[in-house]
Amino acid sequence: MSRAPTKPAVGMAQEQIHRHNIGTLLRHVHLGGSVSRATLAERMGLNRSTIMALTSELGAAGLVREAPPTDTRRAGRPSLLVRARPDWAYVLAFDVAVDRLVAARVGLGGALLDRREAVRPRAGADLEHVVDVLAQFGRQLYEAAPPDSVCVGIGASYCGMIRPGDGMVRFGPDMGWVDQAFGAELSRRLGLGIPVRVGNEAHLGALAEQQRGAGIGFQNLLYLHGDVGVGGGIIVGGKLLDGDGGYGCELGHMVVNPYGGRPCGCGSHGCLEAEVGERALLDAAGRPADLWGRDALRAVVDDADRGDELAREALRRIGDWLGIGVANLINLFNPGMVIFGGMLRDVYPGAAPQVRHRIATNVLPVARERVRLSTSALGDDSTLVGAAELGFADLMADPLATLARTTAHA
Ligand SMILES: [Zn+2]
Repeated sequence: MSRAPTKPAVGMAQEQIHRHNIGTLLRHVHLGGSVSRATLAERMGLNRSTIMALTSELGAAGLVREAPPTDTRRAGRPSLLVRARPDWAYVLAFDVAVDRLVAARVGLGGALLDRREAVRPRAGADLEHVVDVLAQFGRQLYEAAPPDSVCVGIGASYCGMIRPGDGMVRFGPDMGWVDQAFGAELSRRLGLGIPVRVGNEAHLGALAEQQRGAGIGFQNLLYLHGDVGVGGGIIVGGKLLDGDGGYGCELGHMVVNPYGGRPCGCGSHGCLEAEVGERALLDAAGRPADLWGRDALRAVVDDADRGDELAREALRRIGDWLGIGVANLINLFNPGMVIFGGMLRDVYPGAAPQVRHRIATNVLPVARERVRLSTSALGDDSTLVGAAELGFADLMADPLATLARTTAHA
């Protein structure tokens, strides 16, 4: 995989250039595992002595370690490998999903060090209950961390529309939340003096798959995240399209079947999520209305695998609507990769022939030449991994200042 050197813009003040370079280097190591000084110099377009000075600073701060490479067969002086120290700086990551509440401690470099998980009933939950469970998990993870380690950030993924900046849930249809101060309340209850950054689950899932999953190396990708409904993340030129207010990529409410389509939770008819969501699949498979959830959905997929014709037909029907939605999106955004996550990871293999047929029929030939389709590589943890990366964002933007700020609270 080749990467363009990430040179800072001309005219940056010396201090800004240094901050940019040290943050960029840390990001390369955080996402890339062990990276040699020579590779860092090449990727960042800097000379080796500058790389050496930057890694020394990060090493002195406790964030990275250097080691000689194990493979010394190549000619010449071997370039030292730089790797993140996972056991010292970490983030707390939270995931509020439709069926579960998850909390994790994730080390620099991305290793999942510890986690707690609770089943969440579908009946809905108020802010106090959700924050109560998560804050308790968060405190447990914090107290179980090695005594000399440091929490450098906190990120949370939420299945709804989030206001950037303060983590306010503007609209969480699944729990009936409107304008709930989730980020601020969780931060207050954790009491660590660190703000909780909150993002939409599908946006974070898209970024996580691009950074650590099926989308590595793709600058243009689509991520469709299914739970009860369908959320989405669109990455164009390496950046998430989040819209004017941060509420973009609501792919699930793209209208695909306006005439006689199924009613959608948003009040409209024939939205993509109404046609391919959990209820649509269960209804198409003839399951009773009081049966729902991931297990019920997996049972349909298993029945289809065993040759049950009604279950197979249900997946074909879902696949056709999914294909129509995806074909529209490919024509609009010309992605290199389309990734199916959440419950769509279970559904996609049985629905793939219909999706591919729609792409072959409805996508302009030049736009479908290179597009690849995949299920998420991070599985059900794509949103949790995205939350962790959101937690690391401040450290990557300004490693030394963030460290100084967070260690002052420890
Ligand atoms: Zn809708």
